[in-house]
Amino acid sequence: KFIVLDGPDGCGKSTQAALLREKLISTGLEVVSYRDPGTTRIGEAIREILLATEYAGMGDNVEVLLYMAARAQLWREKISSDLENGKCVIMDRWLSSTCAYQGKAGGFGIDKVINIARDSLERLWPDITIILDIDSSLAAKRIRRELDRMELKGCGYHKMVRQGYLELADKMENETGDVSALFKLINADDTPESIH
Ligand code: C5P
Repeated sequence: KFIVLDGPDGCGKSTQAALLREKLISTGLEVVSYRDPGTTRIGEAIREILLATEYAGMGDNVEVLLYMAARAQLWREKISSDLENGKCVIMDRWLSSTCAYQGKAGGFGIDKVINIARDSLERLWPDITIILDIDSSLAAKRIRRELDRMELKGCGYHKMVRQGYLELADKMENETGDVSALFKLINADDTPESIH
């Protein structure tokens, strides 16, 4: 199975990914977990470019292409063979992030992001996308480290990111065809144990 955990910065994805991983391993499954953007050498190099504060002038269209490139490489190098070998893949972010950040908050358009994904990725949607939904100001308070270029975009941007996830989840429930992947929204304003 191909499982994606996603949501705004500070929603607790990484904590939940680790808890889910332990749980699935304890049931006897072989589990791998990766971060997007990143994981592969190419993906980590792209991630550095995306997050460096010195590239403040990067356009949303450029961001879309870079996030998509990192993702395509991750599929090619890791996820496709893992799934073929029967492993369970847990992803920290995937296409849903680009829909919410660049598509909605950046104003590029969710449908346009999905169209670019169709031309760039072999697989758009996982078996399930779990969105950890949280109020943006609450999420911002949870981040206790130096902010990266994307996090520095401000609270207006991050409110729109949350809207983007909600809009995408709604769209996925109501559309058919290759975008009718399973989406699940979970309230992330709770303790890690109860969210788990
Ligand atoms: O969650 P993670 O720390 O891996 O995300 C890295 C950064 O990239 C975060 O600041 C996140 O907001 C940003 N991001 C983004 N657009 C995406 C995916 C991640 O702006 N499509």
